[in-house]
Amino acid sequence: MALVSTDAIVLRTYNLAEADRIAVCLTRSAGLVRAVAKGARRMKSRFGAALEPFTLIRLTFYERENRELVSISSAEIVRSHFNLAAQLEASETLAYMGELVSEFAPPHQANEKLFRMVAACVEALEISAGPARLVLRYFEVWLLRLAGLFPDVRSCAECGTRLTEGDTAHLDIEVKPHCHKCSRGPATRLLPETQRTVIATQQLPPGEFAIKFKELSEESEAQLAELTHRLIVRALERRPRTQVASSR
Ligand SMILES: [Zn+2]
Repeated sequence: MALVSTDAIVLRTYNLAEADRIAVCLTRSAGLVRAVAKGARRMKSRFGAALEPFTLIRLTFYERENRELVSISSAEIVRSHFNLAAQLEASETLAYMGELVSEFAPPHQANEKLFRMVAACVEALEISAGPARLVLRYFEVWLLRLAGLFPDVRSCAECGTRLTEGDTAHLDIEVKPHCHKCSRGPATRLLPETQRTVIATQQLPPGEFAIKFKELSEESEAQLAELTHRLIVRALERRPRTQVASSR
């Protein structure tokens, strides 16, 4: 049995047997892990509030070969987000993020970029940097991008032409961007403002992104939401279970 100690974000928890809980965590050094917290549901649990969703913790666990579940040895709070749980929009957003990360992140594979991105989005919600729904869009774009599923909206997928505002992307049904010449069949024209917004996700951290685009037109916001939703549904082969009221 190997003892592993790493920073982790608690994504969600569920009950196991009479007194235990399973915490699904995104860890910095071991990727997604499902960790058993023995006795976590007892009144005087040694875990206290450390396993509340989206708490940043220092997690120490035993990893057993060929076992998907790991056992938590200790969990110490690094940063808690209790006030977020009390806000409806933020807590819905977090639940949605938790569902998607646990679907998209491959188990036991470290992904530093994903870890930092999720932590930064939670922090942006915590300090209420711009509207929560924009933090959510940023999260979706990056989650898809890190999974290799988000198109590069700056160039044509066929001929490689740079797509500028005069010739914005025409997205086909597979959400592949094409220039005007290469576009065939039914396509949606990516609004220049939506394209700028997508490009900005690569240039700004989530908080600054949400502040900068808080005046984004309803049309572009709807297009961006529709785009990420389509790609997510395609990847999961179903709609996400968690609904966020404000997102669409
Ligand atoms: Zn082309």
